[in-house]
Amino acid sequence: MRRWNVGIIGGGPGGLLTAYFLRKAADSFIEITIFEASDRLGGKIETCRFDSADAIYEAGAAELYDYSPVDEDPLRQLVAELGLSIHPMGGSAVILGEKVVANLDDLRDLNGRPATDAMIEFDRCARDTMSPREFFDSDHLETPRQIHSGQWFDSITGNIADANARRYLEVMIHSDLATEPAKTSVAYGLQNYLMNDGTYMRLYCVAGGNEQIPRELARRIQANVLLGHQVTSVGRSKHGKLRVNSTQAGSSRDDEFDFVVVALPNNYLPNLRFEGQRLAEAMARHHAHYDYPAHYLRVTILFREPFWRGVLTESYFMLDQFDGCCLYDESSREPESPHGVLGWLLGGAAALEKSVMSDAELISLALDSLPEFLRHGRELFLEAKVHRWVWAVNGLPGGVPQLPLDKRHQPEPIDHPDLFVVGDYLFDSTLNGVLDSADYVANWLTALTVEHSDSWKT
Ligand SMILES: Cc1cc2nc3c(=O)[nH]c(=O)nc-3n(C[C@H](O)[C@H](O)[C@H](O)COP(=O)(O)OP(=O)(O)OC[C@H]3O[C@@H](n4cnc5c(N)ncnc54)[C@H](O)[C@@H]3O)c2cc1C
Repeated sequence: MRRWNVGIIGGGPGGLLTAYFLRKAADSFIEITIFEASDRLGGKIETCRFDSADAIYEAGAAELYDYSPVDEDPLRQLVAELGLSIHPMGGSAVILGEKVVANLDDLRDLNGRPATDAMIEFDRCARDTMSPREFFDSDHLETPRQIHSGQWFDSITGNIADANARRYLEVMIHSDLATEPAKTSVAYGLQNYLMNDGTYMRLYCVAGGNEQIPRELARRIQANVLLGHQVTSVGRSKHGKLRVNSTQAGSSRDDEFDFVVVALPNNYLPNLRFEGQRLAEAMARHHAHYDYPAHYLRVTILFREPFWRGVLTESYFMLDQFDGCCLYDESSREPESPHGVLGWLLGGAAALEKSVMSDAELISLALDSLPEFLRHGRELFLEAKVHRWVWAVNGLPGGVPQLPLDKRHQPEPIDHPDLFVVGDYLFDSTLNGVLDSADYVANWLTALTVEHSDSWKT
């Protein structure tokens, strides 16, 4: 049987998942090469350790989304298939000033009846607009339902009658959005609100660190993994195959493939030269369609003990600082650890603006942002780490309008039906989304290899 050479650009979750699904579907007749620019696989799933204590924290993706309350969840199934155990995650508390608001009763006590009524009304509208099934299906339909097409999410939040309720909502979802309500769609804004509801989805993390997912994937993929190889261009070779040029430590190499999968975040695409006018224009159009960059910034601090647990016991809570910031109890991932680890996740404009500050400045800013009733924790400070992720995520995944699935994954089908893209930005900016994307391309590519096993470029 004919063997097919597949080149995958990017060794993050998208590239690894594509390779994993290809191996499962077409193991015996596919050879895979993965180009990864950095010296590690895993991309933005990165579980780190502090220098002064054996305590872990997530520097990138923090939580996984489990849609099994609605239907089969492929990411949840994959995690089980990889033999990984999980911890459920959750967090209902929003800190407004010095008050912990964990439910609508707390909001009424703090801001009165009008705030509660406005939130009840917003919640009703959100659920009426998108049921759990519609949320589940929203990324996958060939012709997705366009919700409030052409409107930005601030047109909805701006209609919330009560200013305190509006503030409560914005603080609650800002971190997840990674952008401002005025820069994302109504559908994406609503999804980021509804994900806090257990009838839509549940949250979990991998016990011992999310990076075990890429590690376990990498162990199972037989591929030629080229670490430290930055791809610079993709074009057509004189043999009619796709040629990938990469550089490593100043030297450059060309490799030829029957198929190439570009598994890079949208913001990386302009760094590659796509050769030939037709391909270059198609890739530029593709990039522009999804060009809604969003930002994250993490400050993670190790404390001698989890001093907040007397008041706040869940895996994360929201803080009304930095336009709304999520504070993860990173130490809840390792319940047996004596230490306390708090991770500030700044999103959107606040993350971009603050990213130019030094690590030391950011660490004091984070400590200063704690409400008065947690300030005593500063005395327990041991060590801190900063991770900047500006331009790294997408604030309006799927683009406007959402395109059919084939078109999303094959930017130039006429002369380059052998070139695919995989990314979370094509779906919902999450690991669930990048898995769906990788699965779609792996199935498509496998079908092509079977269909053309005798005729295609032999
Ligand atoms: C702070 C933060 C928090 C997040 N939280 C969550 C969360 O809680 N839940 C969730 O589901 N998702 C979360 N995400 C999103 C999640 O991390 C992404 O969905 C996922 O990492 C996308 O995978 P990817 O492979 O497409 O991209 P990446 O993870 O970015 O991997 C791309 C890889 O390509 C490599 N590369 C780049 N250029 C080249 C080149 N020219 N040649 C070769 N290799 C190259 C990079 O080095 C990288 O390894 C978060 C992201 C961030 C930044």
